[in-house]
Amino acid sequence: ETGPLELRQLARSFLNMSKRLQSSFEQLKQSERAHRELVANVSHDLRTPLSSIQSFVEALQDQVLKDPDTLHQYLSTIRSETKRLNVMIDDLFELSLLEAGQQTFTPIPSYLDQLLIEVLDSHALLLREKKLQLDVNVDSNLPRLPIMPHKIARVISNLLQNAIRYSPIGGTIQLEARLIQEKKEVEIRLRDQGDGIPEKERSRVFERFYRTDQSRNRESGGAGLGLAIARSLVELHHGTIGVRPPLDGRRGSEFWFRLPLQQPYKDDSKL
Ligand code: ADP
Repeated sequence: ETGPLELRQLARSFLNMSKRLQSSFEQLKQSERAHRELVANVSHDLRTPLSSIQSFVEALQDQVLKDPDTLHQYLSTIRSETKRLNVMIDDLFELSLLEAGQQTFTPIPSYLDQLLIEVLDSHALLLREKKLQLDVNVDSNLPRLPIMPHKIARVISNLLQNAIRYSPIGGTIQLEARLIQEKKEVEIRLRDQGDGIPEKERSRVFERFYRTDQSRNRESGGAGLGLAIARSLVELHHGTIGVRPPLDGRRGSEFWFRLPLQQPYKDDSKL
């Protein structure tokens, strides 16, 4: 027989359970909504280059193109759109691995300057095309960092690509890497002289697919995945990332990220 006390306890645990159920149901609904949004975004972003490829291929099939210049132009558009698709698919794949927690973290002690040289070299052409000047300032006493060098190169490359993309022609990009002793971290900063990011959008640019109002109607630029990938990669390294306006009040934005000098011990075999 159940007394009033047990009944009350039972009722309480029942209420608790139903509350928990309701909140996990809410969570499910939210993640389903996010999922649906994701699929819609992906489909839209993949469809744009695909339909452009399709229409150019059709044009090539339909017409007997005599003019070699036009032919060349069509083919090079098909090529660049295909490349865009490839990049997007790679990005999506990388991000989905990261978000599913399936990217293993296997850091090796690496020097940052070596890595920076490689990243900067691979962007030399883009920099030259926009007549940009690059000021690099790296602390000479930086120790080796426990990082996955390719992944950190990717972070810097994504930030640098944006800095180039949003810089005015002839502008200057500053890149700094500093040891922050008291915090036992290294901070890497990339500053450009572009239009900057309005305050209300600053926290959102790291969301996947997020593009500011200004850049949404631009032709250049990707699908809004670059910063989401950068954030996930930095977090994989137990670091932090953010953006602020330049401290001296000039125009532009300053993206920064911090990496710990030592990684918390983690048993990778359980991942
Ligand atoms: P995208 O492929 O659109 O550049 P990102 O994830 O790299 O995607 O960036 C998200 C958005 O953040 C961009 O669309 C742009 O609106 C804004 N943004 C990123 N970097 C800069 C920058 N250096 N200056 C101004 N806006 C930027």
